[in-house]
Amino acid sequence: MNPPPHHPITTPPKANGSIRFAGVGKQFEGGVAAVKDLDLEIQDGELLVLLGPSGCGKTTTLNMLAGLERPSTGQLSFGDQAMNDVPPEERDIAMVFQSIALYPHLNVRDNIGMGLRTRRVSRQEIAARTSEVVHILDIAPLLDRRIHQLSGGQRQRVAIAKALVRRPRLFLLDEPFSSLDASLRRQMRSELVRIHREVETTMVFVTHDQEEAMAIADRIGVMSAGELIQLGPPLDIYRAPRNLWVAQFIGAHPINVIEASLAANGVSLLGDGAWTKTVSPEVRTAVERQGSGGTFLVGVRPEHLSLASVERSPAADGWRAEIYTRQILGTDILYELQTNGHLLTAVTPTAQVFEVGDRVAIDFAWSDAFVFDRASGNALV
Ligand code: ATP
Repeated sequence: MNPPPHHPITTPPKANGSIRFAGVGKQFEGGVAAVKDLDLEIQDGELLVLLGPSGCGKTTTLNMLAGLERPSTGQLSFGDQAMNDVPPEERDIAMVFQSIALYPHLNVRDNIGMGLRTRRVSRQEIAARTSEVVHILDIAPLLDRRIHQLSGGQRQRVAIAKALVRRPRLFLLDEPFSSLDASLRRQMRSELVRIHREVETTMVFVTHDQEEAMAIADRIGVMSAGELIQLGPPLDIYRAPRNLWVAQFIGAHPINVIEASLAANGVSLLGDGAWTKTVSPEVRTAVERQGSGGTFLVGVRPEHLSLASVERSPAADGWRAEIYTRQILGTDILYELQTNGHLLTAVTPTAQVFEVGDRVAIDFAWSDAFVFDRASGNALV
């Protein structure tokens, strides 16, 4: 679908103040602590993504924002208003889910206007607002169609239009694109980012898909087992994961985790002492301070493992490895490398092509690598 012409929103954004969880916990009957001691401030107008594996407490957090669940402990507030006991219908919130709540017997126009009609908004106002959102979502030609005559992507657009038209103070989106195929999902992501830019309403988006989170978020809150593990802009989390778990969860390709120990002349890598590499003073100091006998873990993203042809440059710096498998990914190539019984992965641009069986020299810069404590998995630098 072509991008719609730019259609400025006529309503100024609402200034509501930030949304704050202060020590919020949610305990379900049976003792399940779905959310533990959550401290989180959502800035006015930001697109915050809650990211984490199934069961980590994302939906419960969203439901507390919506008023569908009440915090067991702590305080949720919108601006300076305490919200724990405010019912959903008084929160001025719109939700978009994976399963879309549209009325199949009504056409698109009536579906979009439904929420406004029940709020007794005037016909004229409904028509004006509907025209505004259908332009943003590029669905004007679909207005007279019934819901069952729409594709999955079109239905999802109508669901977003139905939420947008209400001009809520807060949008909650729970895996809204997960039933769509990969290319449509990417397209809807771009549209959501654009819509967010245009309406400037606070949005909280829940997903377990790190690629989706990286693509759309102003900030990501990474959750695990009911806890907020790390909060920050996507690139900050990508570049400085707080622990090994976050490093493994974020990133397009699984990170290499390499056993390491300090040696007199640097660091001995891969556990068997075969690959010795000079080490930065910063890393040496951090590992020594940890007092773990000098052993630690090094995380190297596949895109940060450099490959050089040994055939072309026999004296190339780096540890020797052999290309074991190769996958062409379109813009990149993913290699599995075999070295002394270990498998590592590397991703290179397609301009740098190796064949299976090629001998290569591998290396990485300490500035791109992560250094983790072996026992806790916490980042040391
Ligand atoms: P998913 O991605 O699978 O939806 P999630 O991260 O959204 O997972 P939640 O739905 O918030 O996770 O669930 C968090 C934990 O709370 C899970 O262990 C879940 O089983 C539990 N839980 C959720 N709702 C209830 C409930 N009504 N009663 C008891 N336990 C619940």
